[in-house]
Amino acid sequence: MPLRVNPTIASLTPYSPGKPLSELERELGITQAIKLASNENPWGPSPKALQVLKEALTSLHRYPDGGAHYLRQDLADHLKFDPNHILVGNGSDEILSLLVKAFLSPGEEAVMADLTFVMYRLAVLGEHAVPVEVPLANWTHDVDAMLEAVTDKTRLFFICNPNNPTGTMLTAREIDRVLSRLPGHVVLVMDEAYYEYVRQADYPDSLRYVHEGRSCVVLRTFSKIYGLAGLRVGYGITTPEIAGYVNRVRPPFNVNSLAQEAARAALTDDEHVAKSRGMNEAEMTFLEEGLSKLGISCIPSQANFIYFDVGMDGKRVYEALLREGVIVRHIRGPMIRVTIGQPTENHRFLDALQTVLTALAQTR
Ligand SMILES: *Cc1c(COP(=O)(O)O)cnc(C)c1O
Repeated sequence: MPLRVNPTIASLTPYSPGKPLSELERELGITQAIKLASNENPWGPSPKALQVLKEALTSLHRYPDGGAHYLRQDLADHLKFDPNHILVGNGSDEILSLLVKAFLSPGEEAVMADLTFVMYRLAVLGEHAVPVEVPLANWTHDVDAMLEAVTDKTRLFFICNPNNPTGTMLTAREIDRVLSRLPGHVVLVMDEAYYEYVRQADYPDSLRYVHEGRSCVVLRTFSKIYGLAGLRVGYGITTPEIAGYVNRVRPPFNVNSLAQEAARAALTDDEHVAKSRGMNEAEMTFLEEGLSKLGISCIPSQANFIYFDVGMDGKRVYEALLREGVIVRHIRGPMIRVTIGQPTENHRFLDALQTVLTALAQTR
């Protein structure tokens, strides 16, 4: 008897994570491959987090605190909210999925950009709901077109700010416009995974909207600047009402005990955050200049990655870079996304890209 799997689920393409470093090294028989594919912090985890993990290990026979009491309290203090506004998840990915589960019934709609974080689409399809994908304009969310796509069936409205993979950002004025026009039954989800990297002054103060009691959720994470992607911990700031609905579908113990302790320590590590932000800014300039010397112009980024056009089949460039021991992310067509690494990694990436582009130009 063939399996009778749910047809919607069978039609999904699984999320494809970048190739692990160890796998590429094994395939190529090399040892110094570099991974600039998942927007991780190249400077490693917060040292303060590493310190507390040693002690937390001795309590591993205990279940985690299922309500993440201390972590939520620390986040609440840090952000000047009451803890009942704070959600934590096994990565902000999990909070996204829980929001989708809580708000979308089969056949209902979520509005999102057509080139944005793929988890929105996957989570929505997984609930048999409909992702309404609106093309970007100028590599940025097209706020007016997205608002026009809202119907009676819309439940969630996703904005990735800055947007992954383009690195572009919506300003406070644009978010104001979204909130002034969005009907009351729609929840605005503002995914701010790269919040700490943003340099532009007119970036929205999204927590203000939560303070005002608007129907919105701000998502942030310990996976990016805090350097804790491997532990899986993200958080959301929202109204107690929305938090209450998410808690109805949240699995108990969804954030493990090591993640809770490490996140609390990382939250106090201003030095690690400042260093990571400063290095990112300097290296972003270095990479933009290097790409420009190769005749490549980049889309200005507010995050820790750069999205650029290689002017030929991006998949071939991606594969040729792999053979040079450099892992980046091919997005679509000629577009590639590279995470800003440490200086030596960025040099290697630029050298490899130059080699690859020269070789491929000759074989055309
Ligand atoms: C990396 C990323 C996340 C964070 O994922 P975690 O599950 O917290 O690791 C969320 N949204 C976007 C747009 C991202 O790029």
